[in-house]
Amino acid sequence: MVVTKQKVFRFTFTHLFVTLMSVMFLVTVVLTFKLLTDDHCNCPRQETVIQYVAKPKHYVNKGYESNHKLAVLVPYRNRFEELMEFAPYIHDFLNDQKINHDIFILNQVDSYRFNRASLINVGYLETRSNYDYIAMHDVDLLPLNKNLSYTYPSQPFHLAAPNLHPRYHYNKFIGGILLINREHFGLVNGLSNKYWGWGLEDDEFYVRLKDANLNITRPENISTGMNDTFRHIHGKDRKRDTVKCFNQREVTRRRDRQTGLHDVKYKIISYKSITIGSAPLTVVNIHLICDRNVTPWCSCSEDKTEKKKAE
Ligand code: UDP
Ligand code: MN
Repeated sequence: MVVTKQKVFRFTFTHLFVTLMSVMFLVTVVLTFKLLTDDHCNCPRQETVIQYVAKPKHYVNKGYESNHKLAVLVPYRNRFEELMEFAPYIHDFLNDQKINHDIFILNQVDSYRFNRASLINVGYLETRSNYDYIAMHDVDLLPLNKNLSYTYPSQPFHLAAPNLHPRYHYNKFIGGILLINREHFGLVNGLSNKYWGWGLEDDEFYVRLKDANLNITRPENISTGMNDTFRHIHGKDRKRDTVKCFNQREVTRRRDRQTGLHDVKYKIISYKSITIGSAPLTVVNIHLICDRNVTPWCSCSEDKTEKKKAE
């Protein structure tokens, strides 16, 4: 029998083709079987695989740096653009530090002048059963330096220190961003409720902390300075309400030993959960109640109205 070259080629080709088809068939059968059985099993191997998947920035893992829980309390009214930047930024910043936190926007919805201190008192009262410490946090101040630590403070920790804040540089300044634990805030009866309009409520709080022999601590070994540690998003159109009416000036210059956490009057209008970018927030709509016998300056314009009414 004569075996031609052509026949050898045909034989090899057919042989190869059949082998290939068989391999493909086998692979398909094995894969199909695996897929079908995987659907029904709770394979631990799958969990291992998930751990290797890159986590999105907003992913909050359970590996917090401590067991303490932080409530970020943001006194707020009509600063929407600032809030849009603040919320996702601070959420990522705190997640990077593995801080177990929730953010509360304390939205003042009554028509009195803004009262930053009373809003923080309300925020504290509403959250204290679930949180170990608070950050009194301006909405327009973003921490830029990663070494600014938001961990649990054993003593009040003034993050926006005078040597780091872009605008306020006096020694007793404790505004902007202050961390304080639940016990200490309760101990000093929170903040005074007498400060309607802009300013001085933080200076009065400084005296409360000092009188209680608390040690105000501040960030150390920060290599950035006044211009690059924080970003202060404060546009020129954001006028500060510095008006003083009635006897506001005299009263608010003095230490307040009467008002605070125990007598802040308010109504919660609603709680709303919202998400800005990656940041989940709770908006607390707060109607503050002003006792005009104690602080008539909660509305300067009503001065005339009251007089007119009386005439
Ligand atoms: N704030 C607000 N709406 C106002 C006034 C003040 O939301 O109408 C809040 C906001 O969180 C702001 C903080 O109070 O960051 C401090 O006020 P502001 O920025 O006017 O004071 P500054 O520290 O710049 O002097
Ligand atoms: Mn500001």
